[in-house]
Amino acid sequence: MKYISTRGQAAPVDFVEACLTGLAPDGGLYVPESWPQIAPAQSHETYVQVATRVLSAFAGDALSLEDVAGLCQRAYASFSHQAVAPLAQSGAGQFIMELHHGPTLAFKDVAMQFIAQLYDLVLSRRGERMSVVCATSGDTGGAAAAAFAGAEQVDLYILHPHERVSPVQRLFMTTTGAPNVHNLAVDGDFDDCQALVKAMFADRNFSREVRLSGVNSINWARIAAQAVYYATAQAALGPGRPLRFVVPSGNMGDAFAGYVAARCGLLAGFEIICAVNENKSLATLLQDGAMMREQAVATPSPAMDISVPSNFERLFFEVAGRDGDVVRRTYEQYRQAGSANLPENVRGPLGCTGFTAAVVDNSGTLDEMRMFKRETGGLICPHTAVGTAAARRLPETEACTVVLSTAHAAKFPETVLEATGDDAPLPLRCDELKARGEVFERVANDLSSVKDYVRSNAVADA
Ligand SMILES: *Cc1c(COP(=O)(O)O)cnc(C)c1O
Repeated sequence: MKYISTRGQAAPVDFVEACLTGLAPDGGLYVPESWPQIAPAQSHETYVQVATRVLSAFAGDALSLEDVAGLCQRAYASFSHQAVAPLAQSGAGQFIMELHHGPTLAFKDVAMQFIAQLYDLVLSRRGERMSVVCATSGDTGGAAAAAFAGAEQVDLYILHPHERVSPVQRLFMTTTGAPNVHNLAVDGDFDDCQALVKAMFADRNFSREVRLSGVNSINWARIAAQAVYYATAQAALGPGRPLRFVVPSGNMGDAFAGYVAARCGLLAGFEIICAVNENKSLATLLQDGAMMREQAVATPSPAMDISVPSNFERLFFEVAGRDGDVVRRTYEQYRQAGSANLPENVRGPLGCTGFTAAVVDNSGTLDEMRMFKRETGGLICPHTAVGTAAARRLPETEACTVVLSTAHAAKFPETVLEATGDDAPLPLRCDELKARGEVFERVANDLSSVKDYVRSNAVADA
């Protein structure tokens, strides 16, 4: 199984290379050369068994079946629920898929736990070390810290905006106690952190010197690992039963994983509603085919405060008939002008992909959290509420609705309290977080100081 770039100018690579590289050298994203056909999940299979089948299909010859089985076993042993992604009924024909049973209470754990195992296995066989960097507005950093803590072959550098992530989110990043996890609190905002990471990758000499790698949402391993729970949802609710998934979306990695599951034969049909907050570029893209650079605005669902969703590029590549030139020209125009329209001839196919979008505003999100509590007695996080609010507006059909719960309510206690008047305490297993001391280094929003920091650690370890 080879992986090709959406911009058509990078050499094909295998699964392991695609995952270790992240972004393709031509600036595109890796996708499988063709979609493997995978037998649907069966209700008697465990999550680890389904994950092993799906991920070994994507790995092809790059990893043995035993290797993939071991990675999945270790990755999902860290979840507090043996079903990993259990379904809870919230109404007639409506289910919540709980993706928040991982160590940092957000769905990013599902992919990140697998990625960390993959890196450690591959790098230890090669006798290599890598420096993984990531910029975070909250959840990605915690998931990466929990997953890579103690990894033998990886140094992890997490850049978060100083005093702009929630206290609970920060605890998950800064209390691992692991010497290979380095937290940098940047004097700036999330965009500054992202710009620093991009600039480190753009410096080819530096990136080669410290063996830089990235695990943000464009990494193929994240998409592949997230396709698994769509398959288990289909098995649990009945093979052949039409489902529609409502996915609280930011960079569209989660929603695109649903598309991947469908293309690989894991779903009976395909209907995905991308639920977005007041940052509605994704809705504009799907509805009008227009890409616009806009400043993201802060909302109660910060993990979805994204301007143009990075994983849209993969969907664009598909509807453009996998023509990398078209994708490259459009993104080049976007880069230069700050906006671009998708070519006319891809707009039609885009409308037939099964993707639609629904926008939920800030007050709608808080109202929904209140309503959900009244109707079910349960608390949901603001991201999940964007999804359940969007689900309310769907026309009644025979399809059963599955809303993805992307984080635990306890991760956003301030918003839960404001919306419902209830406390959302952390689960008991997180108690030790508060007991452990936080470790982070405050740094200026300055590329050379961040590089020096990474270099001195990478060299010390070499
Ligand atoms: C990252 C995140 C999202 C958005 O997921 P994408 O794959 O970027 O679309 C939604 N909710 C939560 C809680 C998240 O952490």
